Amino acid sequence: MGYDKTYKDFQEGEALINVIDDKGYQEANLADAIRFRMKRDGKRFWAGDNISDYLHEGDRDILINETAQAFENVLDTLLIDRETDPNSRGTARRLAKMYFTEIMSGRYDPAPDATAFPNDTEDRYEGMLVVRSELRSMCSHHHQTVSGVAYIGIIAANKLIGLSKYTRIAQWCARRGTLQEELCNDIAREIMRATDSANVGVYIQAQHGCCENRGIMAHSSLTQTTVLKGVFQTDPGTKKEFMDNIKLQQDFAPR
Ligand SMILES: [Zn+2]
Repeated sequence: MGYDKTYKDFQEGEALINVIDDKGYQEANLADAIRFRMKRDGKRFWAGDNISDYLHEGDRDILINETAQAFENVLDTLLIDRETDPNSRGTARRLAKMYFTEIMSGRYDPAPDATAFPNDTEDRYEGMLVVRSELRSMCSHHHQTVSGVAYIGIIAANKLIGLSKYTRIAQWCARRGTLQEELCNDIAREIMRATDSANVGVYIQAQHGCCENRGIMAHSSLTQTTVLKGVFQTDPGTKKEFMDNIKLQQDFAPR
């Protein structure tokens, strides 16, 4: 059946129009074909979900082309002259590229690989580690910037990951369309997965473009979210140490 061919086959000459789904529909473009596969598999593809398992090498370039065409339609419908306005001429393609390679790249990139190092010797590190990670994200509701800082606290299990990996994982989660509450959960879950630790805390404070640039136009509003797992939740001493560490970090680092 045509559907189970890899998209590489199509890039090697076969027209995408030949993609036929299980119901016999012909998919006119790659985005429709991928969406069909995700629906068929019951795979959720919300703005904050990673769908890298459904992309093959080279698909992203094809999707950028398709998205650029769609943004051309958006600009036309907004009655913006993209033919003679020099600043709007390449905007559709710039937007398409920006979504796939920057502001939503965490949906399409696989998880950053975080090589783990053993932490199982007698003098292993047993204290709390707190990492401060700058975040840039985007709200799913308005596609406006969410910018802020995540503090990731962890009590290591039997393995450790490199310090920069915490930030890479946080950024990978953030570079999607998100809700801050959801982002906080996502980071905690992915840190737990990468480290095998059940004891993780994530605190995010961020400013939301959708509150600053529109709606209530509140320029100084700050949203805080906290997710606590394991002893961070059950042990008041650990929770206090985490919160105290965040305060120390904030005294040290400019916000
Ligand atoms: Zn919003």
